[in-house]
Amino acid sequence: MSKESVVTDKKEETNKNGVPLHKAGITKRDEALDNEIVYEFGGPFGVTAMMIGFPCLMYYFWVSLEYHQGKIYYPQTFTFEGIRSFILHEIVEKVVADAAPNWTATKIYMGYIVYSFILAYIMPGPIVEGLPIPSLKGKRLKYLCNGLSSWYLTLVLAAVLHLTGVFRLTEIIDNFGRIMSVAIIWGFTLTALVQIDSIIKGNSHRLSGNFFYDFFMGYPLNPRIGHVDLKMWAEIRVPWPILFFLSVSCLIKQYELTGVVTGPACFMVLAHFLYVNACQKGEECIPTSWDIFYEKDGFMLIFWNMAGVPFTYCYASIYLMKYQLTTGKAITHSLPYTATLFVVLLLAYYFFDTGNSQKNRFRMEQNGSFFARNAFPQLPYGHIKNPTYIKTEHGNLLLTSGWWGVVRKPHYTADLTMSLCWGLITGAGSFLPYFYFCFFVVVLTHRTKRDMERCEKKYGKDWERYCERVPYILIPYVF
Ligand code: NDP
Repeated sequence: MSKESVVTDKKEETNKNGVPLHKAGITKRDEALDNEIVYEFGGPFGVTAMMIGFPCLMYYFWVSLEYHQGKIYYPQTFTFEGIRSFILHEIVEKVVADAAPNWTATKIYMGYIVYSFILAYIMPGPIVEGLPIPSLKGKRLKYLCNGLSSWYLTLVLAAVLHLTGVFRLTEIIDNFGRIMSVAIIWGFTLTALVQIDSIIKGNSHRLSGNFFYDFFMGYPLNPRIGHVDLKMWAEIRVPWPILFFLSVSCLIKQYELTGVVTGPACFMVLAHFLYVNACQKGEECIPTSWDIFYEKDGFMLIFWNMAGVPFTYCYASIYLMKYQLTTGKAITHSLPYTATLFVVLLLAYYFFDTGNSQKNRFRMEQNGSFFARNAFPQLPYGHIKNPTYIKTEHGNLLLTSGWWGVVRKPHYTADLTMSLCWGLITGAGSFLPYFYFCFFVVVLTHRTKRDMERCEKKYGKDWERYCERVPYILIPYVF
């Protein structure tokens, strides 16, 4: 077993895989970093613009899909009157007519929210410990990882409800605009409730003192109802299953109205299935991820998980369906083009799945919470035997084996590739299916910058050594 560097001469306790255990884990630097307030996203002005802008953009895109075949549309004249009339007649009137929340949409969306929460509470699953939390003096919270049992139950239940006609899955796409509005309202409401709860309980963390900024970034770090961690539930149980069922809904609708199911529609269902399944089967790895150990539970995470992800990452599926329904022609491609995209998607998924699991399992081994799991599919090379790493003065190890020895963010490269495939399968008729990819490039670029700066401060010269050992971030020899 080769180790890049060992800065201790003490005999260390290691696990069976030779990874040193490091369970104590909180240094003064961790505490300082955890409490450091840096205005991100353009500060109060930037986040306020985002909180207003995101819902508006979602409605603009909804009108585009619903009325303009996914085309970008704009005012005929860029005068005050032209813009006012455009907003009023082209957006507001259409939203009021076809996307206002109603009882049916509320039942569908809020029914799923309550259902998914109950499953998170009661379903069986392994319990894992998270990372030590600096603000709780190194305490490690326990997470009940019952995502997989909940997911399988949901798949069976959805099939039964659909086939018996109790709830036909096409109702999701039939009520898309209205459900989206309920989700938007719920995103704001839940954010407010979580913040109020945090003020009452006095567990607010890393507050800047600016109301808008704190509303966006969040007040509490680890809000819970009983043993359910609200961030984990919101990240794993809400957005991805809704996204998957939206795609299934589009596919069934396409079939019911035209009698055919196209390759691109199947591609989107497969792509979304892979993503949601990966989140559930690897749920035990999530507590060591950045969102759980560092980000607070504010508008950014809550709104995006409750409304943003499911109702904007789905444009490719909706565009494919709407295009066929409005033009009478299905979007299909040559066999080599379609087959290539399927292969690229599956390959990218392989690197995404194993990349995340290599690092997270390595981290779990280090903090003593690793356990082997047979959740389907376990892909080869997802767990590295005898890994190499850089040992830092902090005590943490930085993995340099597997894909983590090739680039510093291999899971981002794979994730971005998948998101590009989601657009490419629709052809070049509309920008909307590429919105997710473009947005994701911005999100991951910003996230990488934030993360690198944090790691630089946390690991100092050890981080520099790590960057020398793994010089590229996303693509070897390019970037
Ligand atoms: P990462 O998995 O990149 O976690 C970053 C942290 O991992 C660092 O802060 C550091 O933590 C630790 N780390 C970094 N390098 C190493 C290493 N070599 N060895 C050991 N530990 C290391 O975080 P994300 O949460 O950003 O990404 C997780 C997944 O979620 C990705 O696949 C991403 O694409 C996906 N994602 C998807 C989104 C979507 O909307 N579809 C949005 C955001 C993420 P420490 O301080 O403990 O050392």
